[in-house]
Amino acid sequence: MRQGADPGDGGHKPALRAISPGLHFVSTPIGAARDITLRALDVLAGADVLVAEDTRTLRHLMEIHGIPLNGRPVIAYHDHSGEGQMQRLVGLLAEGKSLAYASEAGTPLISDPGFELARAVAAAGLPMTAAPGPCAAICALTLSGLPSDRFLFAGFPPSAQGARRSFLEELAGVQATLILYESPKRLGALLSDMASTLGANRQVVVCRELTKRFEEVLRGTVATLVADVETREIKGEIVVLVDRAAPAEATEESIGAALDAALQSMSVKDAATFVSQTLGVSRKIVYRIALDRSQG
Ligand code: SAM
Repeated sequence: MRQGADPGDGGHKPALRAISPGLHFVSTPIGAARDITLRALDVLAGADVLVAEDTRTLRHLMEIHGIPLNGRPVIAYHDHSGEGQMQRLVGLLAEGKSLAYASEAGTPLISDPGFELARAVAAAGLPMTAAPGPCAAICALTLSGLPSDRFLFAGFPPSAQGARRSFLEELAGVQATLILYESPKRLGALLSDMASTLGANRQVVVCRELTKRFEEVLRGTVATLVADVETREIKGEIVVLVDRAAPAEATEESIGAALDAALQSMSVKDAATFVSQTLGVSRKIVYRIALDRSQG
């Protein structure tokens, strides 16, 4: 984890008492070390066993925050560690041990390991908690100025151009803010492919080095950001967000088709409300068309 140059104990003395048995996911900073939560520190201080995507990173984080290991085991685990390692962890949980799991940075499972483990623990009916905290996707959404009512986190786009274009085409019509992780080396190629798949006028926000010294938010259309990236090198860790496509203009025909489908299972009143909300058209207009159709 690229811990930022911001160490400190935050004045919190982690509770050195045992925590409840079970798996405890722990979110860790994405830059500024002080973004660790007090509860995360308590979990790291109290777990019987520490498990990490990268054991050196976790040891370093614990050192920064003054949490002693006291001889506790630190086990490496990621989603490709294999069935044997996962069964070993599930076995420890079944014995009643408490395990703290941290990925390299941010929230485990979010483009990071942890999913296979969570699935195995859920299937075994063993206890599991999460100490929530930093996540680059959510931090970027907060700063983006793009609508946050509905968003779709799509992780890293494929690195091969053909696969990346198909990936973007699939997302082109989604009525939600899109959130992607990308390497700065591929940002230019991603933006160029966005121009051909999503259109050059789509609003895009690039958040780089969040919570770190060189934090920066770039906003513009796909076209303006393509030009920006051509004139300067973008470095560091980045999140790319894309505004949703403008809704297609509703016509009497498209309203009618949507109503016909809705009227199969809904009353005229409910169908009118549903279609007016889905297509963003006045309910009065939709209701009149719905009445005509239900009577005709
Ligand atoms: N689990 C992490 C989370 O909760 O955000 C994400 C891990 S993923 C392997 C790493 C990617 O997250 C980076 O390549 C970048 O796209 C994004 N990321 C992580 N830290 C970031 C930061 N400080 N600023 C911007 N993006 C970041």
